[in-house]
Amino acid sequence: MMQPPLIDPFARAISYLRISVTDRCDFRCAYCMTEHMTFLPKADLLTLEELDRLCSAFITMGVEKLRITGGEPLVRKGILTFFEAMARHLQSGALKELTLTTNGSQLRKYARDLAAVGVKRINVSVDTLDDAKFAEITRWGRLSQVLDGIAAAKEAGLQVKINAVALKGFNESELFRLTEWCARDGHDLTFIEVMPMGDMGEAQRLDQYWPLKELRAELATRFTLVDLPDRTGGPARYVRLAETGQRIGFITPLTHNFCESCNRVRLTCTGELYMCLGQEDVADLRAPLRASADDTALHQAIRAAIARKPKGHDFDYSRQAVKGQMTRHMSHTGG
Ligand code: SAM
Ligand code: SF4
Repeated sequence: MMQPPLIDPFARAISYLRISVTDRCDFRCAYCMTEHMTFLPKADLLTLEELDRLCSAFITMGVEKLRITGGEPLVRKGILTFFEAMARHLQSGALKELTLTTNGSQLRKYARDLAAVGVKRINVSVDTLDDAKFAEITRWGRLSQVLDGIAAAKEAGLQVKINAVALKGFNESELFRLTEWCARDGHDLTFIEVMPMGDMGEAQRLDQYWPLKELRAELATRFTLVDLPDRTGGPARYVRLAETGQRIGFITPLTHNFCESCNRVRLTCTGELYMCLGQEDVADLRAPLRASADDTALHQAIRAAIARKPKGHDFDYSRQAVKGQMTRHMSHTGG
């Protein structure tokens, strides 16, 4: 039964849900995790059936796009059954898009099945095309495995968008290499400014920060950047490179305010709902979910949470201090 849509206090319709299905990962990217992470006890996790019920509740309330993320979503046991379950909402037409953000390590195994359930586009994170640097930044990852996963995705007919975190002194020298690789292989490419998530210390965080304004200016020394009006309700701004025709996105949470068009909320694998990536306020949906097999209390809890969605976040690196710092890791809420 369809419910009235979710509208927040600033008249923004909530149509996009991102779900972190696990906080675990087979990589330990330096900007995302510490080397020795303490993960949630497995018993705290919602089961895949519970995640199905939660997502289905959001879909009846107008959510049209689901992005599955993590941690690394494809390391969650049985994850394919969850995708298969969500496919029924694609078939009914209630859900317009089912997608995921992945580090690519398990794509060789899953790409074909993902395409078969109706996934059309995926985001894969690749910050560098240098084997040694890839091993350094991910600590546990192997570039060849990820590139093979991307090849499997293409073979399966999935459209691939590459996400690269802009890291000063790390992948600055690879700006053109990454851009040309994506142009050649037909991937869209989005650069992300490093965000103050986790507890890696202020000095290190400021060291890593490569403002996309600078990256853009560097790109413009070799390519003609044509601004595109494309908006996804999210933080990305897009340009087309006149010479290659490829689309490049810039996610600049720190230098650009995008909150006014925010259409999304984030759910963790324990049933916490974050109404804003950059604020601590959180609503517990696990309790109402488990309290009753009937969804009435769950619907009420979701509406009460959306009624608290804040106007925006407070990230700010100005005057060389990190403000709006979040202590939780990106793998907790899902990037
Ligand atoms: N494991 C998957 C992956 O890496 O694509 C999905 C989860 S990961 C948390 C989602 C995205 O968040 C990745 O593109 C990653 O590069 C990005 N990310 C992680 N920590 C970040 C940070 N501190 N600042 C900016 N982006 C970050
Ligand atoms: Fe894992 Fe993704 Fe975080 Fe890297 S960015 S550690 S792949 S969750």
